[in-house]
Amino acid sequence: RFITFEGIDGAGKSSQIAAVVALLQAAGLDVDQTREPGGTALGERLRELLLHEPMHLETEAMLMFAARREHLAARIEPALEAGRWVVCDRFSDATFAYQVGGRGLERAKFDALEAWVHPGLQPDLTLVFDLDPAVAAARVASTGVDPDRFEREQRDFFERVRAGYLERARRAPLRICVLDAARTPEAIRADVERIVRERFLP
Ligand code: C5P
Repeated sequence: RFITFEGIDGAGKSSQIAAVVALLQAAGLDVDQTREPGGTALGERLRELLLHEPMHLETEAMLMFAARREHLAARIEPALEAGRWVVCDRFSDATFAYQVGGRGLERAKFDALEAWVHPGLQPDLTLVFDLDPAVAAARVASTGVDPDRFEREQRDFFERVRAGYLERARRAPLRICVLDAARTPEAIRADVERIVRERFLP
């Protein structure tokens, strides 16, 4: 099974990922926790470039999918074929939200890349942590971590990213669950655990 986590920066997905991994492991399942962009040695090098090097929007979209191609071939697909569970921090929904929604990449170009890189493969479950960008920005600022080039961008950018996630969720309502991330971490976690149990741990 393949589970992905999505949301704008500061929506709180990291702590929820840890909770889901712990839940699955407690159920005796073999879990591979990974992230995008990244997840392989080459993917992590591409991540460094993507996060810190200014580049053309289409270059960015292609590098995201190049990293994803490598990640699928070298890690995700072998793990799924071996019956392992893959829990991934961001996947193609993020590319739709950030590059199409946030930056205005043409949908047809996104669709072509997605159809090229993973035809017929989508996560079994995607959890989108939905949050007002003003609240998310305040959370990010309070961590004291240096913002990367994406996080320095304007609030309206994150409004468009958020809208991108919600549009993607409307198109795949069975796969994508949108969670209200304005609640306490405990309330969100209870929701996340209920969804994962209902779907996968009867
Ligand atoms: O979630 P994580 O912090 O690993 O994401 C790294 C950065 O890359 C974030 O700031 C996110 O905004 C950005 N990103 C992006 N487009 C993607 C995936 C991530 O701009 N498709």
